[in-house]
Amino acid sequence: MPPRLSKVLIPQPRSSFVKIRCPDCGNEQVTFSHAAMVVRCLVCGRVLAQPTGGKARLAGHVVKALE
Ligand SMILES: [Zn+2]
Repeated sequence: MPPRLSKVLIPQPRSSFVKIRCPDCGNEQVTFSHAAMVVRCLVCGRVLAQPTGGKARLAGHVVKALE
């Protein structure tokens, strides 16, 4: 008898961190995808993410989703 595997799957939020590119200056930076505060580009100050109460509205292009 093979050992019985009891694997419990814990649901995890997808891509809590994302790397986004500023549409104005091309700067790439990592931000929290559920940001509770306005996230601005560190280079030019453009607003890249606005809080909506849930997932933040991202203004920049998402380059990569991080874990
Ligand atoms: Zn910028």
